[in-house]
Amino acid sequence: MRIILLGPPGAGKGTQSERILQRFGIPQLSTGDMLRAAVAAGTPVGLEAKAVMESGGLVSDRIVVGIVADRIEEPDAKSGFILDGFPRTVAQAEALSTMLAGKGMDLDAVIEFKVDENALVGRIEKRAAETQARGQAVRKDDTPEVFKQRLEAYRAQTAPLSDYYAKTGLLHTVDGMQQIDNVTAEIMGLLEPHAERVES
Ligand code: AMP
Repeated sequence: MRIILLGPPGAGKGTQSERILQRFGIPQLSTGDMLRAAVAAGTPVGLEAKAVMESGGLVSDRIVVGIVADRIEEPDAKSGFILDGFPRTVAQAEALSTMLAGKGMDLDAVIEFKVDENALVGRIEKRAAETQARGQAVRKDDTPEVFKQRLEAYRAQTAPLSDYYAKTGLLHTVDGMQQIDNVTAEIMGLLEPHAERVES
């Protein structure tokens, strides 16, 4: 099973990815996590991405498509995967489509989280406070100022993917403002018919 979770930052994609992983055993491929790891390790990709990420902009399609292409080759992604935070532009969606077609693979579903943008800043502040309370480092882009930029990037560059995937017939929309468990239940209902597509 290969799925995409689409939605603005703070919509709950990460939380739901963990639950999909538990249910179906397919890994979450988060480009944000991969890029943060590259920044922390000081790799050439990390050095190139750092400033853009800290400003709330989007890293170049070339870099992101490259890391996803490498990641889906890894053994744990053979049974399927959850793409979280990718694609974020139409160009990335087209590159993904080409990449999967080249491997004889296709997508099962794109799940879009509909959320009230006004509630997102509060969610991000909560996430930052909880991270700090655990004694972990808070993401540099989880400040209200940078968050606004991230939301702006989402509106301008990522929101058009909703139409893009609607045309493919793969798009499903969930109400991301519900209780977390209810969002999960809705997603599981959508994915259950694809369960046999988790290759062992
Ligand atoms: P996220 O953890 O998904 O919120 O991503 C954090 C940051 O990483 C974003 O604000 C972007 O700067 C960068 N990033 C993550 N995924 C992508 C992507 N698919 N395309 C471009 N930039 C990305």
